[in-house]
Amino acid sequence: MNTLILLWLLVALVIFPLLLRITAPYGRHTKAGWGITLPNHIGWIIMESPAWIVMTTWFFINPADKSNVQWFFYLLYMGHYIYRSLIFPFRLRTKGKDMPLVIVLSAILFNLVNASILGYFVSYACTYTDVWFYDPRFILGLALFILGFGINFWADSTLINLRKPGETGYKIPQGGLFNYISCPNHFGEILEWCGYALLCWSVPALSFAIWTAANLLPRALSHHRWYRDKFPEYPARRKAVIPFLW
Ligand code: NDP
Repeated sequence: MNTLILLWLLVALVIFPLLLRITAPYGRHTKAGWGITLPNHIGWIIMESPAWIVMTTWFFINPADKSNVQWFFYLLYMGHYIYRSLIFPFRLRTKGKDMPLVIVLSAILFNLVNASILGYFVSYACTYTDVWFYDPRFILGLALFILGFGINFWADSTLINLRKPGETGYKIPQGGLFNYISCPNHFGEILEWCGYALLCWSVPALSFAIWTAANLLPRALSHHRWYRDKFPEYPARRKAVIPFLW
């Protein structure tokens, strides 16, 4: 298992510099020439659902009784992905916007492999007893996870609400963490999965956190460059994704 994860992490090492050079063409970065497209919110549902379907399959395929810790890890992950795949798409104000099929397919691959690695750990390999709930790694990791999810949810909500129903353009987001970084939603999500890696204290969860960062750091940098190009008045001191640093 660890060899497989190592190989998968090597793929992330290749993908990360590629994503720094080639901006994934969806949302504000959509452009023609990327083949077949489908409605944006349908794309989100299809590409994010494998994450919870695969995790749930692993979890219930194992007939053994699950520990409280296993249930906790499972439900925490499910909470995020049920939100991302079945609630978030219906909150978006992107009527009439499309997403390339190639993005959907690559996200499906990302989710299939990551959810399999993590699903195997949560369902089979995790042997913690209830004592783990009192471990400082679990407590700190859970605090980071909750904080990260809160920031991600708040930032996504702020961005979505910049548009009145029916609008499709872009505005400069203001307030809270937006005063320091262009992409608090990406920052929050990275924090969230770092917290999950800490509370699981396992190589599979660490691998997932690294993959999430490899995906979201380049996207945040692309968003940041885009804001600066589009809005000459864009706040000069605002960083891309890590307050005061990057
Ligand atoms: P964006 O910030 O690009 O967009 C979020 C939503 O807000 C979109 O509907 C977008 O519209 C709208 N929006 C964004 N900025 C503005 C603005 N300035 N003015 C008006 N509307 C705006 O987020 P992403 O698409 O990059 O990501 C969405 C969520 O998915 C995030 O929470 C992210 O963390 C998560 N994600 C997770 C990944 C992972 O690897 N785990 C990978 C990718 C995303 P429009 O679509 O029209 O641009």
